[in-house]
Amino acid sequence: MTDLVDAHCHLDLYPDLPVLIDQIERQRIHTIAVTNAPSVFGRCRESVASTDFVYPAIGLHPELVESHSRELPMLLDLLPDVSFVGEVGLDYQTNDEELREQQRSVFAAILQRCADTTPKVITVHSRRSSADVISIVGADYPATVILHWFSGGLKEVDTAIERGLYFSINPAMVRSKKGQALIARMQRDRVLTETDGPFVAVGRQPAEPPDVASVLNHLANVWNCSPNAARETVLVNFNRIRPDARTP
Ligand code: MN
Repeated sequence: MTDLVDAHCHLDLYPDLPVLIDQIERQRIHTIAVTNAPSVFGRCRESVASTDFVYPAIGLHPELVESHSRELPMLLDLLPDVSFVGEVGLDYQTNDEELREQQRSVFAAILQRCADTTPKVITVHSRRSSADVISIVGADYPATVILHWFSGGLKEVDTAIERGLYFSINPAMVRSKKGQALIARMQRDRVLTETDGPFVAVGRQPAEPPDVASVLNHLANVWNCSPNAARETVLVNFNRIRPDARTP
């Protein structure tokens, strides 16, 4: 086994980052290090600057849009210099329609700026809001959108595939019946692996990038292939969307 992919991990939220980075580099795990607020992106980027396998992403999590909206200009300013964006998107856990509207307008502004400064890979949150997320992305969107921990409907999977979007699958999705049905519906050339650590747990521990191996085992079952063939498929998918040409 070589070259794994963790397309959505909050590396900046682990207490012992150097240990994780060491694992990532030794095990060759291409890791998109998402951040939740523009003000923490600089520190994250610095802390992974010497790595070959970590791709820092600038984000503004939808649940922080209300408290951190003043940081949106910072994000928009930095966008031309970054290749990876996330975590961004919508979260309709809130029933506050004004807040949902604020989330939509921030998400649309970020997508617009990303479209103006392609190529970009954008990792997107869509809890209870998948229809609006897919509709705001629209058809023919020029940057790469990865729907992370997708939990919408089966028909929405089809629409997302038609529109060229990707999905990143984590251990929590693999454990749930609904997640399994969604995964079975996804075209395999649009599938990536992720942990969403430390928010997803494996056993009683926060997931860490090497835990994408358990997702590959599930994908291998669904796709009727070996875990190594599933790993290769995910790697080919990741290399297809990678905006930068660096070869570690
Ligand atoms: Mn996340």
